[in-house]
Amino acid sequence: MFKAFLIKYAEIGLKGNNRYIFENALRDRVQEALNGLGEYMVSKEQGRIFVECPDGYDYEETVAALKKVFGISSLCPVAVIESSEWESLTQGVGDYVEMMYPDRNFTFKVEAKRADKNYPYTSPEICIEMGAYLLHRFPELQVDVHEPSVRVTVEVRTKCYVYSIIIPGLGGMPVGCNGKAMLLLSGGIDSPVAGYMLSKRGVSLAATYFHAPPYTSDRAKQKVVDLATIVSKYTGPMKLFVVNFTDIQLYIYDQCPHEELTIIMRRYMMKIAEKLAEQENCLGLITGESLGQVASQTMQGLAATNEVCNMPVYRPLIAFDKKDIVEIAKEINTFETSIQPFEDCCTIFVAKHPVTKPSIKVIKRSEEKLEEKINEMIETALNTVEIVNVK
Ligand code: ATP
Ligand code: MG
Repeated sequence: MFKAFLIKYAEIGLKGNNRYIFENALRDRVQEALNGLGEYMVSKEQGRIFVECPDGYDYEETVAALKKVFGISSLCPVAVIESSEWESLTQGVGDYVEMMYPDRNFTFKVEAKRADKNYPYTSPEICIEMGAYLLHRFPELQVDVHEPSVRVTVEVRTKCYVYSIIIPGLGGMPVGCNGKAMLLLSGGIDSPVAGYMLSKRGVSLAATYFHAPPYTSDRAKQKVVDLATIVSKYTGPMKLFVVNFTDIQLYIYDQCPHEELTIIMRRYMMKIAEKLAEQENCLGLITGESLGQVASQTMQGLAATNEVCNMPVYRPLIAFDKKDIVEIAKEINTFETSIQPFEDCCTIFVAKHPVTKPSIKVIKRSEEKLEEKINEMIETALNTVEIVNVK
């Protein structure tokens, strides 16, 4: 019965003169989300996006795809009435109500919008006349203009559209309207959620994963590719940079106090990710850090890792409890993959008693012991980076 979807957006409607940029981005993201599913026609129309569906399309699949597009506040499956001529409009709306609601013991209200200002009825007239028609055709219906159980919305354009179902969308902003950032993606629970959250604000992503073969397995790397693939269902395709971190890690392990390992390692991760971010024209880094979650994520620990970066570092989970992060991970379907038990490189080189209040001065002094080879090693890591195109 539904031949089209009307897509409503909230926040992006507020962007003044730049509004068209946001609308175009949303139109493009909607089109991309549906491309693999068939020949959908997506167009921009007066404050909303309109999707016309191909014959025989799969309703559930289409709704599922649209529910993954950031920037949609709600989507309404609509029935299309080919002619706006009054007789066929009332007939069409009546048929819609008959098919949608076999049991008609409910209250309703008609709402009308008229794009064609030459239409012989004004919007209030459409509401009144259509309401009267429906009451006459279905005597069991009752009108309630204040709190109806069903709002039947009729939009008169060249064709007419009727809908009464509103499916909530994800909200946020369309990906691509807010620049690009580099996500430090590990195989854990947090970083995929962090990437998702920034992307929800319109940021497109690239990602960097540090692996340490043979200490970390190919399965651990595959897990990260899998996580990136799940996240990309929302964020769009992304380049995943896989950095071989083994030599750097072993070098730090050899030269530096073991209780400082995690912090020093994380500082080099940030440095390398920032280099890749610059190459990719990213405007910031994203991590899954959350205050107090582990030894390296104290205020002092974060200050120490932050200190090596020139770019802003976005930490959307900074004030989240683990259980709230887990909840989002489950919603976006990364949780089951994240909890697969493959070591990531941090867990292998962790000290028994890592420093929880590192002093940047002390850490820098320890890093002096790396001076001889570290720059060369960073160069090598950057030159041997593997790129996985995730989609
Ligand atoms: P996550 O669940 O995201 O792995 P975590 O709680 O395990 O986070 P840490 O291991 O301290 O925390 O890592 C903090 C952040 O550093 C991660 O959220 C991620 O952004 C980044 N990070 C850690 N390890 C890696 C890695 N091997 N490759 C890329 N980024 C990493
Ligand atoms: Mg981790």
